[in-house]
Amino acid sequence: MSALQILHRDPGSAARAGILRTAHGDVRTPAFVPLATKATVKGLEPREVSALGYDMVLGNTFHLFLEPGAQLIEHFGGLHDFMGWQHPIITDSGGFQVFSMGYGTVADEIKGRAPVGPDRSGRVLSIEEEGVRFRSYIEGSERFMGPETSMEVQARLGSDIALVFDECTPFNIDREYTARSTERSHRWLDRCLAWHGEHRPEGQLVYGIVQGGVYEDLRVGSTQAIAARAVDGIAIGGSLGADKAQMYDVVGWATAALGDDDRPRHLLGIGDVDDLIRGVELGVDTFDCAMPTRLGRHGVAIVPDPQKRWRVDLTAARHREDEAPIMDGCPCGACSGGLSRGYLRYLVKNKELTGARLLTLHNLAYIARLMAGLRGAIADGTLPAYAAAQRSGAAP
Ligand SMILES: [Zn+2]
Repeated sequence: MSALQILHRDPGSAARAGILRTAHGDVRTPAFVPLATKATVKGLEPREVSALGYDMVLGNTFHLFLEPGAQLIEHFGGLHDFMGWQHPIITDSGGFQVFSMGYGTVADEIKGRAPVGPDRSGRVLSIEEEGVRFRSYIEGSERFMGPETSMEVQARLGSDIALVFDECTPFNIDREYTARSTERSHRWLDRCLAWHGEHRPEGQLVYGIVQGGVYEDLRVGSTQAIAARAVDGIAIGGSLGADKAQMYDVVGWATAALGDDDRPRHLLGIGDVDDLIRGVELGVDTFDCAMPTRLGRHGVAIVPDPQKRWRVDLTAARHREDEAPIMDGCPCGACSGGLSRGYLRYLVKNKELTGARLLTLHNLAYIARLMAGLRGAIADGTLPAYAAAQRSGAAP
């Protein structure tokens, strides 16, 4: 039986709303999952994250493996007790972070930035069938992570949902490499499932990860291969393309190939307002992304302004004397408390912690209301109107 109970479907798209049941409680879907990369949603208390309306956070296997280490977290009773979050936690496998060190990110490639090279301490030393050998970015020691290591770390962390270890290929890689890499990720998937089947971490669900880059036949083949395995859910990962149009194609190939499969689907690393709306229409149930929290820490607020990619950069000089709130009608502390853009600009420019906190809270409040709005619209049968209004700049 699927961990996801689908309660409503949008007749005009693949969108669905329901409840994802985990060992630490339910997640209302579709849902955005804030990042708690290093066992904290940066700057916030767990109860603040919960009060915003979030049911689940995402911890990072790679970072927690290096520091403070899975054994220490296990000593404290697992990640939930360690960080004081008694709700669902999903952990990524570490694959993306291990491989980003070697390849750089898609943004690096598009912008022509060099990936991390031999002059930096964090780098990949070898990628082999067994796994990946790399140098710790913290103290430079040689470390290894393979499918079994990743699953063991996630078992020790005690996350509710573990993601399998995969090779996350960069954007510019050719079809032949992508095909070979996708095949290897499938073999690693089987090793992850074998480890999990043998050790059976209590109550932990396992998601496979669809790879295949930007090649339709590889994406569809990978989706079918993952779906044929005994996975509890299906994540969509790897390179999703160079722009939004290509990303929507890539995600759509996977969700179309899944058809009426009722297992939960997670889209990795996507969180822009328009991408969340389209992702929901394409049949994705959960999303995670650094964007809302990272932007907030850098002085960028999410606002209902499609022309400006739903963003306003409060560090810009034009906000120096700006007396307006970030946005009207927002229940967050900054907006409802009457704090001006000029004041928030001053805080952020001077690296006051309060500025980063207030903008993180505002951005997460915006995305939480958007997701609640999407869930409500699917349930009410009004998704097309709600999505259209959001795309044209309505407040969520
Ligand atoms: Zn606000």
